[in-house]
Amino acid sequence: MNPWSVATAVVLGTRLLGELLFETLNQRLLVRLAAGGHDAAAAMAVHPPSPRALDYARARSRFRLFSVLYETVVLAVLLGSGVLPRAWRLWQEHAGTTLWADAAFLWSVFALTTAVHWPLTWYERFRLEQRFGFNTATARTWWSDRFKGIVLGVLLGLPTLWGLLAWIRHGGPWWWLGAWAGAVGLGLFLNRVAPVLILPWFNRFDPLPEGPLRDRLERLARRTGFPVRDIQIMDGSRRTRHSNAFFTGWGRSRRVVLYDTLVGRLGTDELEAVVAHEIGHARLGHVRKLWIVTAGIWALAFAGAAWALEQPALYRAFGFEPGNPAPGLLILGLCSGPLGWWLSPWIHARTRRWEFEADAFAARTLDSAAPLRQALERLHRENLAEPPSHPWYRFWHESHPPLADRLRALARPAGDPSSP
Ligand SMILES: [Zn+2]
Repeated sequence: MNPWSVATAVVLGTRLLGELLFETLNQRLLVRLAAGGHDAAAAMAVHPPSPRALDYARARSRFRLFSVLYETVVLAVLLGSGVLPRAWRLWQEHAGTTLWADAAFLWSVFALTTAVHWPLTWYERFRLEQRFGFNTATARTWWSDRFKGIVLGVLLGLPTLWGLLAWIRHGGPWWWLGAWAGAVGLGLFLNRVAPVLILPWFNRFDPLPEGPLRDRLERLARRTGFPVRDIQIMDGSRRTRHSNAFFTGWGRSRRVVLYDTLVGRLGTDELEAVVAHEIGHARLGHVRKLWIVTAGIWALAFAGAAWALEQPALYRAFGFEPGNPAPGLLILGLCSGPLGWWLSPWIHARTRRWEFEADAFAARTLDSAAPLRQALERLHRENLAEPPSHPWYRFWHESHPPLADRLRALARPAGDPSSP
């Protein structure tokens, strides 16, 4: 048996089994929550979740499980059936063996594996989210999003793949160091320009209108040194009734973005607390820290790829001839999702800590934890996000701490001196 085939089967299989375990635990927790009572499950929830929220959590859990099963089958068929080396030979006969032809082949396979998942994203939006009253997108918006995704994929993905292949071929034994630096540079650049050049293609961004909210946020902005012109409202209601806020970009393109659905739903005090939390992420350097973590992971990934691409057995395991690194890169790219799954708990342990820090920042800045606690409770209730996940699932997947833990942390004296 080729060790690369075994390793791939192990990587795909452990993720599938892990997700099966997590979602089984989630479903059982939801059953216990539905039964009520005062056991450990109920203690994890702030209030007994509504039957509708429990239904929604159950449906989402089933959907996640089906998605990972579907993705595993697609990858297993692609990698195990011999279809890729056959397509590669045909491609080389017709498109030639230039770097651009190689890059285009890789791009096409990656694009196809994305398109194969469209039925799932369609189902999620127009069946699952629709059933719970969250979807506001039309089929037209959905297709236009796919189309824009393809255009961006061609403009950004194709030249990136070409550059990477050129670097591997001409960069010498240390090509991966240059490629890594290039990838980090490109990532930073895209993150810098996305709020100005890419995101407005999908959504409308407006400055805060004149009024009490703007006045209040202007005072907050002065106190935190975060200019109010960097706070914008996005037409999230174009696709969903879920409400959210996020921080994006860096340097002069940094933004706190509020969904219009959020602005319509929260009071001025609560919105101020949410914005203070987002400004906390900026002030506490979480964006910079996330980039350091990302750069570290990418360094490991590139060094690992440089070693793997030198192994003839990698190519032979999937029916390719060693020599051209492009098929090796294709296999590594296809397996990057299941491989990255193992990093998930490590990254999320960090992001959960940052959420507590940003909450504490908001409470300190406003001299009270009450508005943020109120906002968090209301948002969880209205987004049907109240039922907590099983601790094992949370440990692996969740970027945010559960509501109960956040409220508890906010109630501590460090978060709010006036609280018990
Ligand atoms: Zn946050």
